Amino acid sequence: MTLQQTLSIIKPDATRRNLSGKINAKIEDAGLRIIAQKRLCLTKEQAQKFYAVHAERSFFNDLCDYMISGPVIAQVLEGEDAVVRYREIMGATNPANAAEGTIRKEFAESIEANSVHGSDSPENAATEISFFFSTLEIAG
Ligand code: ADP
Ligand code: MG
Repeated sequence: MTLQQTLSIIKPDATRRNLSGKINAKIEDAGLRIIAQKRLCLTKEQAQKFYAVHAERSFFNDLCDYMISGPVIAQVLEGEDAVVRYREIMGATNPANAAEGTIRKEFAESIEANSVHGSDSPENAATEISFFFSTLEIAG
């Protein structure tokens, strides 16, 4: 077991429906700590940069438009095996395939508007955390 950090984003479909408290409760009930958090509106350029790994995918432009359709809440989560653990709490990308009790099963509207983002590896977590936060803003 290793203490890790991961980057979470509460996406525009969830902020629009006022679900940030319910999502944070799921995160905290699962034993992860929210050690940094801020609400912001991404620009199109920032959304394109954050999701650059998906630039060739057919859904890329729609995904970036969706991510700028309202405010997001970027968070740093900390805990044992936080990267994999948060992916478990989030559930599958497509809410139709998400397990019972997961954030996406309970809250996601669609495969695109699926309420949360979570880093997929410790290396990407470090890159994604530094995209949103300076070390001064993270209080473990
Ligand atoms: P995850 O967020 O589970 O890591 P991906 O990294 O594969 O999933 O995709 C990034 C985001 O792109 C997803 O969370 C979702 O918002 C969107 N997305 C993924 N696949 C599709 C798809 N087939 N159609 C529309 N949007 C998609
Ligand atoms: Mg991903």
